Amino acid sequence: MTTEAEDRPVILWFRQDLRLADNPALSHAVETGRSIVPVYILDQGAVARPMGSASLWWLDKSLRALAASLEARGSRLILRRGDSESELRRLIDETGAGAVFMNRLFEPDAFSRDADVAHALRAEGVECKGYNGALLARPGSVLNGSGGPYKVFTPFLKALLASTTPAPALSSPTVIDTPVGLASDAIDDWALHPNRPDWSGDVDWMPGETGASRSLSIFLSGGLKSYSKGRDVPAEAATSRLSPHLHFGEIGPWRAIEQARRAGDDGRVPAAEVDKFVAEIGWREFSAHLLHAFPRMTDAAFRPEYDAMPWRDDPQSLEAWKRGRTGYPIVDAGMRELWKTGYMHNRVRMIVASFLIKHLLIDWREGELWFWDMLVDADLASNVQNWQWVAGSGADASPYFRIFNPITQGQKFDADGRYVRRWIPELSRVPDRWLHEPWNAPPEVLRDAGVRLGQDYARPLVEHSSARERALGALKTVSAARPDGD
Ligand code: FAD
Repeated sequence: MTTEAEDRPVILWFRQDLRLADNPALSHAVETGRSIVPVYILDQGAVARPMGSASLWWLDKSLRALAASLEARGSRLILRRGDSESELRRLIDETGAGAVFMNRLFEPDAFSRDADVAHALRAEGVECKGYNGALLARPGSVLNGSGGPYKVFTPFLKALLASTTPAPALSSPTVIDTPVGLASDAIDDWALHPNRPDWSGDVDWMPGETGASRSLSIFLSGGLKSYSKGRDVPAEAATSRLSPHLHFGEIGPWRAIEQARRAGDDGRVPAAEVDKFVAEIGWREFSAHLLHAFPRMTDAAFRPEYDAMPWRDDPQSLEAWKRGRTGYPIVDAGMRELWKTGYMHNRVRMIVASFLIKHLLIDWREGELWFWDMLVDADLASNVQNWQWVAGSGADASPYFRIFNPITQGQKFDADGRYVRRWIPELSRVPDRWLHEPWNAPPEVLRDAGVRLGQDYARPLVEHSSARERALGALKTVSAARPDGD
């Protein structure tokens, strides 16, 4: 015999898990046999870091895709905007729901907000259940010998892979029973798509679950075969481009790993390439576990002495960096790719971040915020962890004194200039020899290429060797601030 409580609907609270397949909270909700109320609540006020404009662009498309998939199963996505707890309460009143199921978020603000919501609802007899659909392992579950969080990547990855078994794949429900007549916002009214201006013309993505599967299969039959080399060449489409799909939960990380491993087991892809890909997903995981354990990482240097760095306040140079007008072609190409597409190749992310932090001596937090607004894959843990990695202040960071030379980086990773020419068409006729240092080209070469430095393309904002010396000088302040003074 079923009690009344067991017949009451389950609210399925979607957040960064915008998929129907392999969605633990959804599968468990369907298993209850009760009707399901799928809801997405746009709650930009609950976290210190609301979504940036590129993320909102993505969210718009991903929610539309999710809504269509739900409709194909006889259900409907309810959209609400405002404070999460108030909106959930309203929905509970409207539907008589007796439970809220969700896949957990692990970023500090969202995590504590969710805990508060669950606490308040449980006190009123509403069942709240959380699942992990976002990470390979729950933060806090992979600990070192002393029971603390790992601060170094390689032992973390080893322990993670040794201690975690893949979550089993869950199939997409074929039918989802949802009460009819529920009020919902119209997604058009949320105006998430940019219109002042609409910068998204060159954005070449397919947000949503189908787009995630498509990106993965293109990668499995292409880039993965020579991933470890290809991933460093920005002109090649050799990486998976799964990052925004993973961030919004349109695919779970175990499924990406499982399919890559299958390609390895079938002999389609060398095992070493699969391992490299798994390790990169491991960096995502490491970032999330670190941020969960050290929530202050978003604002403060992980190694506190790095907050003594004598950062320069230089709004003009910061603006030139943001707009791709530093005069260093590989840096400018990256910043323009970001501006136009909401994405930047990983190698170039490292180069532009290093340039901002070391050549311009501008605080990494400025760059992190710009990326946060501009990236379709903006992810608090990964963004902060990587910016601190480049700044030398992170947990397992690249040493600060390793300063990327933007000329030789360009020559090495964009030797034929395809990447720079794609994003900086005004340099397209500069020969390869001078492409990454046009200011050193003989005047007749620039004339033949139709480039007037300072007019058609910027002169370098800083001179490499003196900027490098300045950056190394600044490091002395950090050494002096170190607790042991070494
Ligand atoms: P692939 O090479 O195919 O890698 C597969 C997956 O592994 C990625 O989708 C991503 O989820 C994960 N991954 C790969 N490299 C890293 C890494 N270094 N750190 C964490 N996860 C990684 N990635 C984000 O997802 N969001 C960010 O906000 C972000 N900010 C970054 C900022 C800087 C300064 C730098 C240097 C890197 C940043 N990255 C960020 C990491 C990396 O650049 C992107 O994950 C990667 O370029 C995405 O492309 P892909 O999916 O084709 O990667």
